Amino acid sequence: MSRTRDQDACPGALQVHQAADGALARVRLPGGMLTAAQLEALAEAAERFGSGTLELTGRGNVQVRGISEPEAVAAAVAAAGLLPSATHERVRNIVASPLSGRAGGLTDVRPWVSRLDNAVQTDPELAGLPGRFWFSLDDGRGDVSSLAADAGLHVGPDGVALLLAGRDTGVRLTPDDCVGALVTVARRFVRVRGNAWRVSELDDPAVLLTDFGLADFAPSAPTGASFPPGRPPVGWIDQSDSHVALGAAVPLGVLTVRQAQFLAAIDAPMVITPWRSLLVCDLDEGVAETALRVLAPLGLVFDESSRWLSVTACVGSPGCAKSRADVRADAAQAVEAGTRNGNVHYVGCERACGRPVVGEVLVATDDGYRPLRP
Ligand code: SF4
Repeated sequence: MSRTRDQDACPGALQVHQAADGALARVRLPGGMLTAAQLEALAEAAERFGSGTLELTGRGNVQVRGISEPEAVAAAVAAAGLLPSATHERVRNIVASPLSGRAGGLTDVRPWVSRLDNAVQTDPELAGLPGRFWFSLDDGRGDVSSLAADAGLHVGPDGVALLLAGRDTGVRLTPDDCVGALVTVARRFVRVRGNAWRVSELDDPAVLLTDFGLADFAPSAPTGASFPPGRPPVGWIDQSDSHVALGAAVPLGVLTVRQAQFLAAIDAPMVITPWRSLLVCDLDEGVAETALRVLAPLGLVFDESSRWLSVTACVGSPGCAKSRADVRADAAQAVEAGTRNGNVHYVGCERACGRPVVGEVLVATDDGYRPLRP
């Protein structure tokens, strides 16, 4: 299966997308990692040149929309150290277990994030990856493997499994071989992909494993069966070094400039998760208690039973010209009314952007919403 359209319109900080409400820039954050100063810089750019909000994406990235001066935003992103490569900016798509190295997991995959990011940026061939191709690094807890990224690692008791499109390939790697294996897969994908943007669109993904000496590619059960869908880590989280991380769900992934400024004022490392939430890390207990008291009234959610954790939406109107409704407003209304149970994703048209791995998708119609046809 392959797509006929070969134009990669995936936005970046330099190649922006012209949306109905102005230009949209997407800033890649490998591993979702972000400093307080970087968040502050993005918030300032959104306030001066954009819509006044930051959008957290389902891949742990950040978007600024409604941009009036794209060059000014790109300059601000670069000045914050978030644009290390003009040629590879859209292919630095790396998601990692957000709490890795701080709480839980079998190993700390953060050093792999840095090594993989460096390897991708310094490989000229990998500038040819589609902007949608992404890598996942799961530290063994089974959170990000369930996202079915194109090429992934999953730490296990018998070594590190190499995953393709969320499926275990049977290849087992040593920690020293992990990053090289992902680069090998990505290079081969660039060479064989044709018009395919994702590994799942290849007729025969086994072609990506020819460098691993396997006669046959026999994928095991889909990752979804092995790894239940991850949920955002929310609330008070004790780190293994006796510090505290605070996990905050961000309703519909929309962070206001004011929220971002208060978060940045804590002056702690942050992680944007692929569930459109964030972690504020490495806090002393006293600082964490104060931060909770300040951030919760601003609208960030620290209750893991909150309905906000189950409801997501595409941008909808007025940001997207294809939308039949202001789906964010409708989703927010549904949360407030408590009318639906389970995971629900509201979309303005059948394209179903940002659709999560699991849950119901409701698509806007002229007189309400209906389930998306399979
Ligand atoms: S799902 Fe449709 S309406 Fe929503 S952002 Fe995508 S294209 Fe626009």
